[in-house]
Amino acid sequence: MKYNIDEKGYYGEFGGAFIPEMLYPNVEELRQKYLQIMHESSFQKEFHQLLKDYVGRPSPLYFASRLSEKHGCKIYLKREDLNHTGAHKVNNTIGQILMAKKLGKTRIIAETGAGQHGVATATVCALMGIECVVYMGEIDIARQAPNVARMKMLGAEVRPALSGSRTLKDATNEAIRDWINNPVDTHYIIGSAIGPHPYPDMVTRFQSVISEEIKWQLQEKEGRENPDYVVACIGGGSNAAGTYYHFLDNPEVGIIAVEAAGKGINSGESAATSALGKIGIIHGCKTMLMQTNDGQITEPYSISAGLDYPGVGPMHSHLHASGRADFYSATDDEAMKAGLELSQLEGIIPAIESGHALAVFEHKKFRSEDVVVISLSGRGDKDLNTYIEYFKL
Ligand SMILES: *Cc1c(COP(=O)(O)O)cnc(C)c1O
Repeated sequence: MKYNIDEKGYYGEFGGAFIPEMLYPNVEELRQKYLQIMHESSFQKEFHQLLKDYVGRPSPLYFASRLSEKHGCKIYLKREDLNHTGAHKVNNTIGQILMAKKLGKTRIIAETGAGQHGVATATVCALMGIECVVYMGEIDIARQAPNVARMKMLGAEVRPALSGSRTLKDATNEAIRDWINNPVDTHYIIGSAIGPHPYPDMVTRFQSVISEEIKWQLQEKEGRENPDYVVACIGGGSNAAGTYYHFLDNPEVGIIAVEAAGKGINSGESAATSALGKIGIIHGCKTMLMQTNDGQITEPYSISAGLDYPGVGPMHSHLHASGRADFYSATDDEAMKAGLELSQLEGIIPAIESGHALAVFEHKKFRSEDVVVISLSGRGDKDLNTYIEYFKL
């Protein structure tokens, strides 16, 4: 079984590029050039230099001894929360802004829901002095005022999507329309391991620095490169894809994905795509997504804005369908509790998204000798208001 992408842009039966005809030239240009550019030594050099000096990589692999004692196994946290801007997303936006420059693009567009990807994109555009337009649903703009302010402060223009439900998918439609109208000078930075081929693979490769580092860091700490398990939360699937990448073909490494069950898988308010989803097309690729019987995309729900997405990337659909990965889902309550537990046992306040990965211990019992690496995808500063309301702090 092959878990990585094939020449046609598919993971098993998932992936591909299902895009309007008018978008074909843009995506095709990227498809033809992305691997070659990524392999150029000048690209690699600049990418790794920025990851080091700007993002602050390598992110530590931290042995969480009190958390380990509590859950009866050896737990390591991959500290993506310590990256500049507070999460893993910047690994991808750094890669894509360099890609855009190599392609000769002078303008960046992106869409954002919670605003985290918008901020990561606005950040790298400021870094490079490149024009940046971020599409965001009007409702999300009202809900995510601090991130809107960050984007503006970083010099980006935030354009409201005024149609439909005025949330993420409407912002995506606006971004696609913009790209169709500006095929020559504009690059579209997608923020997760989703979208038409080659985006899922390109984003995964940029994020794969996470598992590349885990390998040598674990060798230093445990005398072996391979943990028994890698665990990550899944929104669209980029921190997970990066955490799994270098372990996909090592069957001795168990792969665990944790989705957001919201108020409960069967509550009607959840984002547990693998449990509830069916195959369909979203954001230009064939993958698992939550939809009604007549194929309308269901509005997802999670207390964490970053997991509030109705699909998963095609790699994850394939990992699920093939049985290579085990999928669990954590409720809002489980994720919040796990976030509080990490804060008080280790002095690390995680993003609520990462709290879902930490809630794996509610669902699976590990052996005492198991080495479990968890992707701590982001820090909790952005979630403080949610924590305050939830715990009445
Ligand atoms: C955006 C985000 C996620 C979810 O996105 P993926 O593409 O699934 O990784 C997870 N954690 C944090 C902290 C985020 O900001």
